[in-house]
Amino acid sequence: MSTPASILQQYWGYAQFRPLQEDIIQSILAGQDTLALMPTGGGKSICFQVPALLQEGVCLVITPLIALMRDQVANLQRRGISAVAIYAGLTNKEVEQVLENARRGQYKFLYVSPERLQGRRFLEYCDGMPVNLLAVDEAHCISQWGYDFRPAYLQIATIRSYFPKVPVLALTASATPRVQTDICDQLLMQQPNVFTKSFARANLSYSVLEEESRQHKLKHILDKVPGCAIVYCRNRKRTRQLADLLHLQGISAAHYHAGLPPEERTARQEAWIKNEVRVMVCTNAFGMGIDKPDVRLVIHYDMPDSLEAYYQEAGRAGRDEQKAYAVLLYNEPELDELQERIAQQYPTLPEIKHIYQCIMNYLQVPVGSAEGLYFDFDINEFVKHFQLNITITYSAMRILEQEGILQLSESVYLPSRAMFITDRETLYAVGETQPALDPLIKALLRTYEGIFDIEVRVFEKQLARILRLQEAQVTEKLQQLHQRGIILYRPKKDEPQLCFLQERLQAQYLRINMERVEERKRTYTERLHAMFRYVRNRQTCRTQALVAYFGEEENKECGICDICTARKRKPLNETEFERIAALVMEQLQLPMHLPLLLEQLPGIEEDRILDVLQFLVSEEKVTRDKDGILKMK
Ligand code: ADP
Repeated sequence: MSTPASILQQYWGYAQFRPLQEDIIQSILAGQDTLALMPTGGGKSICFQVPALLQEGVCLVITPLIALMRDQVANLQRRGISAVAIYAGLTNKEVEQVLENARRGQYKFLYVSPERLQGRRFLEYCDGMPVNLLAVDEAHCISQWGYDFRPAYLQIATIRSYFPKVPVLALTASATPRVQTDICDQLLMQQPNVFTKSFARANLSYSVLEEESRQHKLKHILDKVPGCAIVYCRNRKRTRQLADLLHLQGISAAHYHAGLPPEERTARQEAWIKNEVRVMVCTNAFGMGIDKPDVRLVIHYDMPDSLEAYYQEAGRAGRDEQKAYAVLLYNEPELDELQERIAQQYPTLPEIKHIYQCIMNYLQVPVGSAEGLYFDFDINEFVKHFQLNITITYSAMRILEQEGILQLSESVYLPSRAMFITDRETLYAVGETQPALDPLIKALLRTYEGIFDIEVRVFEKQLARILRLQEAQVTEKLQQLHQRGIILYRPKKDEPQLCFLQERLQAQYLRINMERVEERKRTYTERLHAMFRYVRNRQTCRTQALVAYFGEEENKECGICDICTARKRKPLNETEFERIAALVMEQLQLPMHLPLLLEQLPGIEEDRILDVLQFLVSEEKVTRDKDGILKMK
């Protein structure tokens, strides 16, 4: 008879479970609702995959990340397990087919994005589907008190009512105690078993550096710590600037953000994974679902706005359990900026109504219509058109989303599709009268089976190869066929989609629960302030501070973070102190920035200079002005 261990061995070839995996699996097999908190890379997927394989039926997996979903499905299929995913890129017909097969028990795993749960069709098919387990990945998305609330997740409670006896497993890598309780409530869990793997990471050394000149520091750290690295920035433009700069300085680097074309993103990610590129400079769009064990260094060039996000991103370093570093750079003006941005992130009711009105005008939606419709929506174009502030606009849309009025989905790659919409006779006639289009018509018929009856995916590149044409020429000819009413042609796209969940109202009738918005603003501010406290902290071990935030008591200091190492360092003896102080004062006869000062004093450990400098500043022998220039008093 199969056991969890034999399944693990049979399909994955692993000899042992990692800590907590087996407990979680046993809890599910006993039919218990379960909440599992495990750091990224801890091995969460095994926790639902193994019990699902031990039981009859299909495991329904809900996850918001399409790329991750595809990876996991491919991964399972490689191991000979039948798995399939439903996400925004599929046609209704394809979705129905998959759901029908699922109901007949053809799959062991059905992955679904939360947006898909909302369709009526999905619920119809749920009825009678032989589900054995409901697995909810990134479960913190269900909580409005969490850092990544997605209202579509609330629909999971409805899904549960279709399988009242089936246990739910909620998985997350970061949730504060309040969010943990909320997850259990929102998922209607009954006496859940809660498993928490310690958030402490013994091999990861955390540091925080207050820096005026971050560029200089970046290079300095990359020179000191060899190996593969990630540098996180807040804005897209900067990823490119920094990557170029590093390149000039002889460090191999690439940049990555969600605005790059998909092929480009994949190519860069691959190059980095294969260690052809050492440093990836990126926004937080990078890293999700990437399982690269040997990342030695994660640098935050800009500060994230919550410890949850920070912990996840920093945690991508050192998954191989070897020593790794997470360094966060910040300065006080940056904290002030983040504080000031809160007002823009939580706009007022009139601001929200104005933006709603602009969207409707922009897309030319008449009052009383739009429910259920999808539109391509490029927020940058939109903002330019009405000269709106991007942060306010984006935030207002997020609020409209959280209020269930509309939904802005991540950009989805939709391959081109085509279908013939004439009969064969007309087609032959076209072939004769339009000889220039004839080869393409023939190629379509020969290459894509079923193109007469249903919309099929077509690939311009492939057609270009067959016809010995440029890809652009093929696209143009396909468009001509479309205009003549011979085919229906939908070119590929990769654009965010805006979907209306309610019909268009006149802006004055728009109802937004501002109390709820206020409450979210309050929790956002609390999270941001917790982040401020973390970076300003000069006393508590970083690991202790982090795990305490996630509700864990950790008595042991990590011994390897900046705070612990500073404490362990032997204090300078007096002569040495005097000597360094004299050298510093001598240099500072000319005012200068810290990086230059450090350069002027080679051979002395940087930390020692900083210690001495701190003392001189506190004694007011040296001052530091608002631009960070050091001067002798
Ligand atoms: P998470 O979802 O928690 O980030 P994954 O489920 O992707 O983590 O697992 C991370 C990696 O660890 C994967 O490569 C997975 O195959 C591996 N892994 C999981 N469980 C075990 C185990 N018991 N033994 C060895 N490797 C494991």
